[in-house]
Amino acid sequence: MPSVTPLSSLVTAAQTGPEEPPKSNPPFFTAPMVIENLPPYRPEHPATVSLYQELLIKAQAFASPAVSGRRVGAIAIGESGKAYLGANIELKGCAPGDTIHAETFAITLARAHGETGLSAMVQTLQPCGSCRQILAEAGSPSLSVHILNPDTANSVHKRIDNLFPHSYSYATASLNLFNHPQLTVHHDDPDAFPLIQSALSGARQCYLPNPGRKTWSGIAAKLKNGKVYIGGAITISGPNPTITPIQDLLIRLTSHGESLSDIEHVHMIEPRQPDYSFFRNAEAVLEKVAPCATIHKTQA
Ligand SMILES: [Zn+2]
Repeated sequence: MPSVTPLSSLVTAAQTGPEEPPKSNPPFFTAPMVIENLPPYRPEHPATVSLYQELLIKAQAFASPAVSGRRVGAIAIGESGKAYLGANIELKGCAPGDTIHAETFAITLARAHGETGLSAMVQTLQPCGSCRQILAEAGSPSLSVHILNPDTANSVHKRIDNLFPHSYSYATASLNLFNHPQLTVHHDDPDAFPLIQSALSGARQCYLPNPGRKTWSGIAAKLKNGKVYIGGAITISGPNPTITPIQDLLIRLTSHGESLSDIEHVHMIEPRQPDYSFFRNAEAVLEKVAPCATIHKTQA
């Protein structure tokens, strides 16, 4: 995994530019891919642009471009002021839809950290159609998407409703990827297996904009080091490109610098007779990224 270096030198550069007033609280990493106190992206401030160029290069270092060989980076700026790095994770031998794009990574990571919305995206490439759909369900039609080439500093700035007009989406200001009710999921015997409790936690974080359907799914993984990570279905309106529970899980693992091959056991929980099941998908991905891992499912 890439080393995380302090932002101090970059911050100093950004804060001493002629247009940028000094900040009392410099940005810092709170986790390998999470930053606090990052100044807003201001295309008119060269020092700020330089800071984001460096951060995009750091984001790209987390990429696993096993198929394309191309490293993509993204930064999701949350309403809290925290920033989340994202990178493309390509899973060789898996289905194309299992690929995780950089902006999807960053948005999913922001959700996992309890963000209530996004204020901006900064990324190395134009978002693909799938990512535009996901960005459109982030809550705000006026979300700023800045495309910044980290090598040349060339940039383009758009609102998501310009990038993706007339979108098909159930998302509203009060029901979107970042603002939705927590799912109520019960299990008859939650003490039967500890990972079931964790999988239930993942299920409760599902995004289900299409009401009345049994599409929730939770996942939990125990690693060789004993740590447990969770994930849940982020069911986009279409419902493609839904972010699957295993993708949510892999993003959280990667963001903590964990190795996917260290997954030891996975447990999923899904409704009986679900409208969508994510179990076979998770099983297939796991077979490639952690072939020695076991996987089980509980129905609730
Ligand atoms: Zn994409």
